[in-house]
Amino acid sequence: MNAKRSQVDEEGIRSEDENRQIQRLALLSFVINLGLVGMKAVLALLSGSLAITASVIDSATDSVASLAVYGGLRLSVRKSPRFPLGLYKIENMASVAIALFVFLSGYEIARHVLRGPTDYPDISLATILFLLAGTIATFVFGQYVLVVGKQTESPTLIAEGRHRRVDVLSSSVVLASVLLTYLGFGIELFGITIDRIGAAVVLVFIVRAGWELLSDGMRVLLDASIDSETLDRIRKIIENEPAVTEVNSLIGRNAGRFRFIQATVGVRTDDLQKAYQISERLEANVRKQVPHVERVVIHYEPKPLEHLVVAVPLADDADTISHHFGEAPFFAIVHLRFSDKEIEKRELVKNPFVTLEKAKGIRVAEWLVEHKIDMLMAKEDMRHKGPSYVLADAGVKMEIVSVDRLNEAIDSILSKM
Ligand SMILES: [Zn+2]
Repeated sequence: MNAKRSQVDEEGIRSEDENRQIQRLALLSFVINLGLVGMKAVLALLSGSLAITASVIDSATDSVASLAVYGGLRLSVRKSPRFPLGLYKIENMASVAIALFVFLSGYEIARHVLRGPTDYPDISLATILFLLAGTIATFVFGQYVLVVGKQTESPTLIAEGRHRRVDVLSSSVVLASVLLTYLGFGIELFGITIDRIGAAVVLVFIVRAGWELLSDGMRVLLDASIDSETLDRIRKIIENEPAVTEVNSLIGRNAGRFRFIQATVGVRTDDLQKAYQISERLEANVRKQVPHVERVVIHYEPKPLEHLVVAVPLADDADTISHHFGEAPFFAIVHLRFSDKEIEKRELVKNPFVTLEKAKGIRVAEWLVEHKIDMLMAKEDMRHKGPSYVLADAGVKMEIVSVDRLNEAIDSILSKM
């Protein structure tokens, strides 16, 4: 049981602690960016450097983006299937508005780079040291976010961490241009000072960040819900889980480029522990197979059964109950109705794995689970054998029968219903 548990954990199921950690880091990302804005704004004012001014706008854009990410994570925690759509749209409209403001600032900087009076910024050693400290902090924090992002398989954090690497690059450009100016290199390209060249390079980063903010915001505004193709895919993944009887509701929404999924499913068990394990397995499967899924919340409802689907291994005459499981040539799959205790459907299926050399028991068990059976009646006591674990995992009950004929077995079940 424990081995099974840790295997499932490695498949990417997140604990509440991990979810809180992701949120905390997203918030910290915002705070750090905001701190950088403050620090660089002071440095820009004191030095008059256009490169540093551009860097302020870069960091300010990042602050807004990380705040939007944090908001998305917060909203996704709410247990209620209804989420405040209004608020959520405002958040994205703000993203779009701010992106436009970022482009406007970028344009202002571009204008200064190309025209305006040629003046040299006044760079002190302190300016350089502060910028260096900011760059190092960005690098260390970014690496940490990446590590946690990979551990928790959070697409949000991985994207944040990668973005911090880009920030280190743009900060280094500013640092280099400021350092060269400080050291007195009077390099000019077509009459443009090194400080302005630095600003022009940072401009590329600004446009990139602004574009991301704009497209993420627009995507959500234009397509607030997840596209139906993706939802269908997720529904299939959930329905493929043998222990799931039905998918009652499935909703998903985008926050930026990230996806949040909520599903209510009926599970074929009244054991809460087992139902919980099934929901964890579903979460892991969806996150593994669908990209950019930040969170999956599965609500499970143990379903009172309306039908009982019973499988019985049969011998060659297709009537006598077989003494074997994996080697049984036929299986009867009988659908019994609880309401009037009638047989709704009887099927006789050939065991497709009967000629298999190895592990046929396991294969047969998996194949029966695909038939969504609720119960297996057999002569063979399969406790502690491979097939029984497969069946138990899917919530299939096992009964040992003493009678010899299929009809007698069915009658004994009907009498107990
Ligand atoms: Zn950035």
